[in-house]
Amino acid sequence: MATIKVTIAGPRGRMGSEAVKMVESTEGLKLISVLDNKNNGKSLSELEGFAGIDVPVFSDINECFQADSPDVLIDLTTPETGYIHTKTALEQGVRPVVGTTGFSNEQLQELTDLAKEKQLGCIIAPNFAVGAVLMMKFSQMAAKYFEDVEIIELHHDQKLDAPSGTAVKTAEMIASQRKPKVQGHPGEKETLEGARGADYDGMHIHSVRLPGLIAHQQVMFGADGQTLTIKHDSYNRASFMSGVKVCVETVMNLDTLVYGLENILD
Ligand code: NAP
Repeated sequence: MATIKVTIAGPRGRMGSEAVKMVESTEGLKLISVLDNKNNGKSLSELEGFAGIDVPVFSDINECFQADSPDVLIDLTTPETGYIHTKTALEQGVRPVVGTTGFSNEQLQELTDLAKEKQLGCIIAPNFAVGAVLMMKFSQMAAKYFEDVEIIELHHDQKLDAPSGTAVKTAEMIASQRKPKVQGHPGEKETLEGARGADYDGMHIHSVRLPGLIAHQQVMFGADGQTLTIKHDSYNRASFMSGVKVCVETVMNLDTLVYGLENILD
């Protein structure tokens, strides 16, 4: 297989720095540049933690792609930047692998249409952890038998979006199997606003933000006399990198946008 040239956006971030390590240590992948809102014109090797990794740093995506066009852009930034990067990459014939969360449905639709028009692969995965994907799939299976469910997602307190992309994706997958139902007592009233969490199709999503956490989720189903809890924990960001690697390799063979790691795993 030919070497896949990779650009990483957000290399100083918690996820981006792991992605740099993963690409650097993976045969068949070659890091050719990084996109960073600071440090334009420097070499990555000048930044703390990246000694010996001599690739150029760009702040502008167009300049970056003009200097040397990658095959794949890995984006691990913020919702606003991630959307612009993904759109620009598709417009310029670069395949995006996006871990950044917080895109709106309209943005996802626009990117799906653009990938189709350009016949270019793109993967947007709100969760790269294989265990989290299984948690979502098991929840989808259980939803056929349990229509009452609450999703509790727990993340570190620097996370920008709530609920998490994984929680929303889980709710979507559950909704595809669950009989629509407004849960709880019909006369239920919140004495403190937000106490019952966000409402997705009648089921509730609760977002916990605490230092010390990384990425965790529980999906709790309830029925007469029983509960079923499906739980996944990511204890470090390296847990996401095997998923990122699979996505980078797979996106080269796609010609549409795929949303969710579960749709590319066997
Ligand atoms: P983070 O530590 O805050 O890193 C984000 C990085 O993006 C920061 O270094 C930030 O730089 C940089 N950035 C912001 N604007 C930029 C721009 N215009 N160009 C280039 N870089 C820019 O966040 P994180 O924890 O790594 O998470 C990154 C994203 O991945 C988030 O959306 C998060 O929800 C998502 N995530 C996904 C998964 C998954 O499995 N898919 C797992 C964990 C997290 P500054 O610090 O200078 O602003």
